[in-house]
Amino acid sequence: MAAMKNTVVRTRMAPSPTGDIHVGSMATLLKNYAFAKKHGGSFVLRIEDTDKEREVEGAIQRIQDIIHDYGLDWDEGPDKGGEFGPYIQSERMEIYSQMAKKLVDEDKAYYCTCSRERLEEVRDAQRAAKVPPKYDKFCRNRQSEVKKEIESGSEYVIRLKTPESEDVTFTDLIRGNITFNSDSVDDQVLLKSDGFPTYHLAVVVDDHFMHISHIMRGEEWISSTPKHVLLYQAFGWEMPVFAHIPVYLNPDGKGKMSKRKGTVSAQSFLDKGYLPEALLNFFMILGWAHPEEKEILTLDEYIEHFDPKDVSSKSVVFDLKKLDWINGMYIRKLNVTELEKKLKPFIPESFPSELVTPVLPLIHERLEKLSDFEELTSFFVGSVVIPSDLLLKKSSSEEVTTQLAKTHEALSTLPHWTPTAIESTIRELQEKHDWKRNQYFMMLRIAATGKKATPPLFETMHLIGKPAILERLQTAKTLV
Ligand code: GLU
Repeated sequence: MAAMKNTVVRTRMAPSPTGDIHVGSMATLLKNYAFAKKHGGSFVLRIEDTDKEREVEGAIQRIQDIIHDYGLDWDEGPDKGGEFGPYIQSERMEIYSQMAKKLVDEDKAYYCTCSRERLEEVRDAQRAAKVPPKYDKFCRNRQSEVKKEIESGSEYVIRLKTPESEDVTFTDLIRGNITFNSDSVDDQVLLKSDGFPTYHLAVVVDDHFMHISHIMRGEEWISSTPKHVLLYQAFGWEMPVFAHIPVYLNPDGKGKMSKRKGTVSAQSFLDKGYLPEALLNFFMILGWAHPEEKEILTLDEYIEHFDPKDVSSKSVVFDLKKLDWINGMYIRKLNVTELEKKLKPFIPESFPSELVTPVLPLIHERLEKLSDFEELTSFFVGSVVIPSDLLLKKSSSEEVTTQLAKTHEALSTLPHWTPTAIESTIRELQEKHDWKRNQYFMMLRIAATGKKATPPLFETMHLIGKPAILERLQTAKTLV
């Protein structure tokens, strides 16, 4: 990017501890992280906790933990400190009120003592007149009175003195220049009556004093950006570069990704058995493409090529099929020991521990998510439901009964229960009786596991064990 020669790149993520981090925010965080790394800069984590009513207990810690669980880290932040800390807004209260008062002193902001009731009346009247609700600037030109009211104990807020009828332009790396007229922006509150800053004041003050050069954030914040731009102007500060990242659409392509269509927290995807590396890879190619359109890429490759200006300006679908595919690729890259370690939390307690190691090579190819373990191995232990209609596919009841009886007889006398012994017994039977191979093998698979798709049949039968297999063949016989 041209403007960057002399700029130290500093990016940030500024989550509010109001709940778990949304998976889309994690994807945005990755962009901020990668861009800072690409330019040898720093990535800052700042906690925006000025809305105490919406704060959720423990969320500050959970935010930090989940970022680490995704394998990412920050250079400056709450636990690490850094040159421009503190990095938790509630520890920076003094600076916000100082900055708001500075604007008042410079006649760029003003005190307002309007009561809630008055503001509501104004809003009601505007609604009735079908004009957009905005503060009517009542206090803007009566400051000496307002100051007296404050001296005699009135509550007050500080508002920005928004310039009148000015066209203001800012640059968004993804959308180009965006121009707005200052008349469309409210005389926004900067400092609330309880002394807390609004999000708008705090975010601008912090981004400035933390020397943030590039702000990449979700496009839901784009409507706030004019307020921020006016604040940068009021302070006379240089503006960072903005890039507003389009929101993701629900996997069904309908609407903005939301809780109503399934879980959306970054944590929930780890809980479902997606690997962090695979999730990061998925985030990389959501709305951005590697120059050679590579879909599986390392973090280093991403860092090398990523540029926010190449992010699609259109919303993209959060395509779970693609995510499953990528996750499967990453699972297959693991060796069996690594896989076993990662699978631990997903193995049901009832699954016999001595079966885990032998079962893994059989299911490794078929796992898309770690949580698939249960489904892919359910037939190795306990009882199974054998669908009788499938047993009879492409054959008659008599023939299947004979096949089951003969197989049971031959297997029950097998001295060594090994995959090869099972295989040769079954192949001999098939040849001897000239049974259709596909029909017979599929029927056996259904009888042995209850399923049409399983890992290789003879290995599977071997692991299920002789007594269980013989019992299932008997049961199948009663069903046909
Ligand atoms: N605190 C805001 C959030 O929760 C930060 C928005 C921004 O990045 O400016 O996402």
